[in-house]
Amino acid sequence: EADIAMYKAKELGRNQLAIYSSEMGTVEVRKMEIEQDLPLSMTRDQLFVEYQPKMDVKENRIIGVETLLRWEHPKFGVISPSEFIPIAEVSGVIAELTKWTLEEACSQCKQWQRQGIDLPVAVNLSVKLFQSINVSQFVHHILTKYQLDPKYLEVEVTESVIYSNQEAIYRQLHDIRTLGVRVSMDDFGTGYSSISLLDSLPIDTLKLDKSFVDHIEEENKQILIEGILFIADKLGLEVIAEGIETKRDEEIVKKLGCFVMQGYYYRQPVCAKELVEWIHQRRM
Ligand code: C2E
Ligand code: MG
Ligand code: MG
Ligand code: MG
Repeated sequence: EADIAMYKAKELGRNQLAIYSSEMGTVEVRKMEIEQDLPLSMTRDQLFVEYQPKMDVKENRIIGVETLLRWEHPKFGVISPSEFIPIAEVSGVIAELTKWTLEEACSQCKQWQRQGIDLPVAVNLSVKLFQSINVSQFVHHILTKYQLDPKYLEVEVTESVIYSNQEAIYRQLHDIRTLGVRVSMDDFGTGYSSISLLDSLPIDTLKLDKSFVDHIEEENKQILIEGILFIADKLGLEVIAEGIETKRDEEIVKKLGCFVMQGYYYRQPVCAKELVEWIHQRRM
């Protein structure tokens, strides 16, 4: 009996039970348990966020943070968002998770301001979210609730949001920008990037994907980065390079003309308290 897992299978329709046997691989069982436990993560206080600094390397200062969601699962330990976000998107809890994260980030940002720390926060939004709630309305609600100036909030969306080419999503992104919240295109250069769409997208910033930096020693990668920087500049878009891990990464990216960076070289994502300690240390 122990090797039989029962599971409410969404695919089969509401309230139908599917029985999985030991023939199922551990990967599938884990996925199933994650899906089942996800709704509880919020009520049982298992979610938390970490913040990773975004650096202006010209001025050598922190200009904002990205909020990264974490889940301390009672059995599996801390699970990466790369694993549970795609599951949350399918199971439908993504809206609740994102609402929770937005609240956490905005309330933290406000708290920092009270401590005299001006630190804009960025929150990742997934494609599926735009299909399930009116995101701009919710963002507006949260800004009002926490009395937060919209210039302190940024949202990051991946290319797939943007190239899904749905009018409704474009409109929501446009509305979010109208509120005064900045919009970044995350992981730019990985999926379906189409340069020709860049001039019509409701975005402020391109986040150059880590894969460019991973092969930064290759001349062709450098040519691509230079090209992207040139186009972004002409279109009035800002560019931030993700995944800077070494001094050499920073040097090359800087030489190519990009001065805003994020990566382990500066700091891994950390809890709010550690981040503030780090900022104070740097100021001394
Ligand atoms: P992302 O938005 O592109 O976030 C950057 C990821 O790269 C983070 O992984 C970060 O910890 C990692 N990273 C940062 N600097 C470096 C570096 O120098 N080297 C390497 N190897 N990695 C670096 P993380 O936290 O595991 O998040 C993975 C992805 O999960 C995120 O990618 C984002 O797409 C998604 N995610 C995280 N939090 C949320 C959330 O609240 N909502 C949604 N929808 N997605 C989220
Ligand atoms: Mg991101
Ligand atoms: Mg990214
Ligand atoms: Mg990513």
